[in-house]
Amino acid sequence: MFGFLKQVGDYTRDAVDAARNLAQGFSVTFDHMQRRPVTVQYPYEKLIPSERYRGRIHYEFDKCIACEVCVRVCPINLPVVDWVMNKATKKKELRNYSIDFGVCIFCGNCVEYCPTNCLSMTEEYELAAFDRHSLNYDNVALGRLPTSVTTDPSVVPLRELAYLPAGEMDPHGVAADRPRAGQLPSQVLETLTSPAKSSAKNEGQSSNEAKEGDA
Ligand code: SF4
Ligand code: SF4
Repeated sequence: MFGFLKQVGDYTRDAVDAARNLAQGFSVTFDHMQRRPVTVQYPYEKLIPSERYRGRIHYEFDKCIACEVCVRVCPINLPVVDWVMNKATKKKELRNYSIDFGVCIFCGNCVEYCPTNCLSMTEEYELAAFDRHSLNYDNVALGRLPTSVTTDPSVVPLRELAYLPAGEMDPHGVAADRPRAGQLPSQVLETLTSPAKSSAKNEGQSSNEAKEGDA
């Protein structure tokens, strides 16, 4: 009899514990339901790609000198530079240029090493196509101006986390004129170069300070 009552008591205590844990779990869940979802509602909302985002490559036919550096630095020798030698002028004549974005890994090597800056990376990332051959862009397709998230009237552009004002985590409802957290690259460069000048003068002093700090 006593054993049975103990079992009933244990069972009741376990049931109450489980109910309390469940209630705690539900309270956390309901608390999350009170918060605004931090979800980007694509395609009506889009994040603005960062300054150095590596999207679709833009190409300027008039600037290209057919040097083929882009081919040599590409991990898969992807750009196709179609040129012929003009024997009269003894100069290369560019016929066509193409990059197959079905194969490109958007590493940006070609852009980095092009001597005439005729290649650049755009912020365009929506390249989906039904036919893989239509991803092979010729010089005309490569030369088109890229689409921009900020100029599309049907899209609400949202800032990425690093571009939000200090303390903001959610891009929704942040006024466009509020400054981003941290400094702009030009300001960072200023702070990097100006102390360098002053530290060059006080080099002995700062090295002594560093030693003291280490000690
Ligand atoms: S590196 Fe630049 S200039 Fe040279 S072939 Fe490639 S795109 Fe043209
Ligand atoms: S981005 Fe990279 S993979 Fe694509 S063409 Fe340029 S070098 Fe080649």
